[in-house]
Amino acid sequence: MAHTVTVIPGDGIGPEVTAAAQRVLAAADTPIAWELAQAGSDVELKRGTPVPDEVLASIQKNRVALKGPTETAIGKGSKGVNVTLRQTLDLYASIRPIKSIPGVSIAHPNVDLVVVRENTEGIYAALEHMVVPGVAESIKVVTARGSTRIAEFAFRYARSEGRKRVCVVHKANLLKITDGLFLDCAMRVAQLHKDIDSTQMIIDGCANLLARSPQTFDVLLMDNLYGDVLSNLCAGLVGGTGLVPGASIGERCAIFEPVHGSAPDLGGHGIANPIAQIRSAALMLHHLGLTRHAVRIEAAVLRVLAQGDVRTVDLGGQDSTEKMTDAVCREVERSD
Ligand code: NAD
Repeated sequence: MAHTVTVIPGDGIGPEVTAAAQRVLAAADTPIAWELAQAGSDVELKRGTPVPDEVLASIQKNRVALKGPTETAIGKGSKGVNVTLRQTLDLYASIRPIKSIPGVSIAHPNVDLVVVRENTEGIYAALEHMVVPGVAESIKVVTARGSTRIAEFAFRYARSEGRKRVCVVHKANLLKITDGLFLDCAMRVAQLHKDIDSTQMIIDGCANLLARSPQTFDVLLMDNLYGDVLSNLCAGLVGGTGLVPGASIGERCAIFEPVHGSAPDLGGHGIANPIAQIRSAALMLHHLGLTRHAVRIEAAVLRVLAQGDVRTVDLGGQDSTEKMTDAVCREVERSD
């Protein structure tokens, strides 16, 4: 029986890369029935909200969504699709697996790490206001419950993926109360998972070591803002956000989406790299228990990138989204 999955094409390059992922899943005969839901900045213009109720209802019903990137206005407007979905659906755990890909030229080979990010709290609670003109304030919310459950998730995830180490990243030397609580909760959870090595690092040192020696890391556990920033840095280490998949996971629902944004500079030109969205869809198939389909798609992506005949702009080439998608579909069909 087919799984019904909500698909949110999003803004900018979102519809192009999402359609590419849907084509690849179809080429692999994946038993998925798509239910279309529209969210994003265009929807906000028409409906006054970027996430209409029917989008939430569709995800709540189907429990799984594939989402394209959505645009969030800078310095004005609503809090945006991602924060709304993650907070409303309590998608508290973000995972972003970052791995070197043979054939993609990068500064550091053999990177294989996962960023686990708390996805609902921290400074992204977006509780900010102007105190008086010229003075703005933002509240960073950290709870013991939120910190403990993301730490539990990270250690359980590490074990299930055969990973050996979790490093808790923080700034508790300065943010003694908020990051202190996050670190304290994480280290308590670490005591319950002694089969996994646990360490902690101040974010400054972690950023430095990531740039110099990213192979040092296995699972990195951090709060919302740090996880957003460092996962993008890590994506850059392995060839860019056009390659890196992601997921936002809660107890009931999960949304799969690439690390990259809506790339307004590329939107509508048919030249975006669809690989991150195709790999996000493969992560989704693992989540749905469609492991054989997921492995087949992941292997096809790796073969296309290793051959190096097709390269989108972000990888130094000039090939289109369609050409990259064709190449992946061909490899998927060949492996039938
Ligand atoms: P971006 O990721 O959209 O773009 C950064 C750079 O990377 C641009 O040069 C872009 O052309 C390039 N790029 C991104 N994805 C690519 C792809 N698949 N193929 C080739 N090149 C690619 O980041 P930004 O410019 O900081 O943000 C643009 C918009 O996206 C903003 O409104 C932001 O809020 C939003 N955003 C959304 C998400 C999401 O929905 N998950 C994530 C990040 C940013």
